[in-house]
Amino acid sequence: MAETESTTPSNFITEIIEEDLKTDKYGGRVHTRFPPEPNGYLHIGHAKSICLNFGLAEQYGGLCNLRFDDTNPTKEEMEYVQSIKADIRWLGFDWDDREYYASDYFDQLYRYAVQLIEAGQAYVDSLSAEEIRQYRGTLTEPGQESPCRDRSVEENLALFERMRAGEFPDGAHVLRAKVDMSSGNLNMRDPVMYRILHASHHRTGNKWCIYPMYDWAHGQSDSIERITHSICTLEFEDHRPLYDWFLDQLGIYHPQQIEFARLNLSYTVLSKRKLLRLVNEGHVNGWDDPRMPTLSGMRRRGYTSESIREFAERIGVAKANSIVDIALLQHCLRDDLNQRAQRVMAVLNPLKVVITNYPADLVEEMEAVNNPEDASMGSRKVPFSQVIYIEQDDFREDPPKKFFRLAPGREVRLMHAYYITCQDVIKDEQTGEIIELRCTYDPETRGGSSPDGRKVRGTLHWVSAAHAIEAEVRQYDHLFNQPDPDDVARGEDFTTNLNPNSLETLTGCKLEPMLANVEPGSRYQFLRHGYYCVDLESSEEKPIFNRTVPLRDTWAKIEKAQQKK
Ligand code: ATP
Ligand code: MG
Repeated sequence: MAETESTTPSNFITEIIEEDLKTDKYGGRVHTRFPPEPNGYLHIGHAKSICLNFGLAEQYGGLCNLRFDDTNPTKEEMEYVQSIKADIRWLGFDWDDREYYASDYFDQLYRYAVQLIEAGQAYVDSLSAEEIRQYRGTLTEPGQESPCRDRSVEENLALFERMRAGEFPDGAHVLRAKVDMSSGNLNMRDPVMYRILHASHHRTGNKWCIYPMYDWAHGQSDSIERITHSICTLEFEDHRPLYDWFLDQLGIYHPQQIEFARLNLSYTVLSKRKLLRLVNEGHVNGWDDPRMPTLSGMRRRGYTSESIREFAERIGVAKANSIVDIALLQHCLRDDLNQRAQRVMAVLNPLKVVITNYPADLVEEMEAVNNPEDASMGSRKVPFSQVIYIEQDDFREDPPKKFFRLAPGREVRLMHAYYITCQDVIKDEQTGEIIELRCTYDPETRGGSSPDGRKVRGTLHWVSAAHAIEAEVRQYDHLFNQPDPDDVARGEDFTTNLNPNSLETLTGCKLEPMLANVEPGSRYQFLRHGYYCVDLESSEEKPIFNRTVPLRDTWAKIEKAQQKK
């Protein structure tokens, strides 16, 4: 244990846990849970919570349950349950056989509710939802007690039983806790515990037509599972008195709720409601669109689970909300991919180059190292021939200062191959567009250096035309063009900040032949461009690559600037 403690930084949650271990509060146990509501796909914010809950269990030799908070039958679907499980496994965590559902506890929760009614601490209210809202008061005014508040225990028991039996339509009655209508905390003003909802549930079917509210279900579920530390986000801080109140009134096992700041990330949104809108309104192509901050989208884009875990570790946990720069996430990703991604050459915007003094029928195999960071990844052979492609951007007819790439009369190095010199520029007669370069090569420079030691300043990547495979390359960028997508003018919403250039699709890209038939999900560094991942829908007939992240690391710059200060 000492070992893990030295590598895992401490924070206010580990301090609480260590204190509890010291005082033997829970008999030395650490038992957490991750409680998603199956009404959407998991996003990077959930990943933070998963890493925290499962991570703490690992760190202290404890357990972490997966519990679906499925108390809302109308918005929940099995599709979400499946995707949530797949995402947690992908992140590298395991709940063994501890897969629970709040709906597993509906019977027990009903009995607990009866117990509170019998103790005079819950009552059936027949006010309408609107009346309940009006009676509730405001932050500055106390609430008003409902005329139903003094119903007798017998009457409450009978009404509650009839609610359960389906005798009333939706909204006719609710069950409320009898706490304190003048409490400064609105959550304590007789919160609703049950509502009538004639809706079929994805697990319990039509057995129930009353459903527990989140606050009523959550703490009692924690208690039933004998959770020790119930970790949730800051919005629930004001709910903690209620969490405690229910457990204390029932006199049952009492876990401790601890709140931490939720993750906010720049240039994206992390609310399931907003993500659902992006999907439903067609702003993205589904939950796993590579621009989405969902784990399925990030996976498809090429994120590694290791980089997400590293990110979660680096941001740590705090008690105050803040926005994390997405550049940090990308930095963690580059760090990881730099170690593991094979380097390859890919020309995204091809310009044809004919090497006039190179034999037309010759093909040479050039040795190319696969990953300079990892010698064990070896090397490969890349075919070189008379006609190659280079990037359009790597040539300027009239080069500006500091442009060290190819220009008329100038010599550059072709990576892993020869020096070439541009002799001629061929243009389309009609449009004037540059369509081809004529170059010569120096046979003495094979491998990228010259016997006379002369210097060239530019090194370009290239692909042999006869051997290239053609692919579609999807250049992804931030989904929003504002760091805070919710920063909008009155009357507008976050969708006005959508980045219209978040996806640029390039077709006819020329890739080196080793990229033929690569598995969906495999990741590469396209030299001088960035990291790319083979898309899920890629095939031999139509190879598709997703840009995971460009090479340029803005976070490294930010960090350097910070160090200078
Ligand atoms: P949303 O507001 O997007 O609907 P939610 O909190 O309702 O999210 P749940 O499925 O209830 O979504 O979340 C499961 C767990 O993940 C909860 O414990 C919640 O606190 C946590 N969680 C959700 N979003 C974040 C976030 N951005 N950062 C950290 N934890 C989060
Ligand atoms: Mg929630």
